[in-house]
Amino acid sequence: MNAFPSDRPLRQSLIAAASTLLEGRLNLGTSGNVSLRIDDGLLITPSGLHPSRCGPEDIVRMSADGQTLGTRKPSSEWRFHLDLYAARPEVGAIVHTHSPFATALACQRRGIPPFHYMIARFGGHDVRCAPYAPFGTVELSEVMQVALQDRSACLMANHGMTVLARELDEAVELAFELELLCEQYWRALQGGSPVLLDPAEMDDVLRRFTGYGQPGASRASSVVGRDDRASAPA
Ligand code: 13P
Ligand code: ZN
Repeated sequence: MNAFPSDRPLRQSLIAAASTLLEGRLNLGTSGNVSLRIDDGLLITPSGLHPSRCGPEDIVRMSADGQTLGTRKPSSEWRFHLDLYAARPEVGAIVHTHSPFATALACQRRGIPPFHYMIARFGGHDVRCAPYAPFGTVELSEVMQVALQDRSACLMANHGMTVLARELDEAVELAFELELLCEQYWRALQGGSPVLLDPAEMDDVLRRFTGYGQPGASRASSVVGRDDRASAPA
C-alpha cells in the first residue's frame, strides 16, 4: 500500500533530516523537531517518536489554521512552527534542536555576539537568545518571533535553538553551522573575553557574503533580506 503518494517524498525527507540531526548529535532521543511548508499548511515530525521508529505515515500534516490530518499527534512545538510560517512567507523549512553547545549558551540566557564573522550567515550582527517560555506554548512562539526578527536563527533560553531556511537541506546545514559557532564561542570564552567584530566590520562581512561562492548560491542567509539587517530589537 502506498499511503500519502503525493507528499511521500517530503515525509521521507523530514525523517531523513531528523535522522541526520540525531547522527550528528544535534538531537538525542526524541528531542527536537523538523517541519516543511506545503501549499496549504505544513508537514511536521510527530511528538515523542524516535526518528528510527518513524515512517512516512507518522509525519503529521497540519493546515494553516492548525487542524491535523492523520493519526499521530504533531510535535508539541507545532505552534511556533505554524506561527513562523505565517509570519515569514520566505521560510520553507524549520529545524529545532537541543544541541549541546547551543543549549549550554541558552541556559546562560546568552545570545551569540559577533565573535566570528560567520555569525553574519544568520542575517545580522548577532544571534539572539529568546527569553524563557515553556515548551509548546503560545508564549514561546511569541518570544521566538521577536528574537528571530531579521534573523534566520535564535537560541531559546533553557531549551535549545531554532533555524529557519528556504529549503530543508539548508535548514539542517545551518543548524550544524550554528552549533559549531556555539561551540567555538563557548571555547573562546574559556580563554577570557573574545574580541568582537565591530558593527562596520560585520556590515562589511554581510556585503561580502552577497557575492560569496558560486553565482546564485550566496552564503548569506537566504531568508533574511539585506536591507533588514540593521534593525534589531533590544
Ligand atoms: P516533540 O517530540 O513533541 O517534537 O518535542 C521535542 C521538543 O524538542 C520539545 O521542545
Ligand atoms: Zn525542544
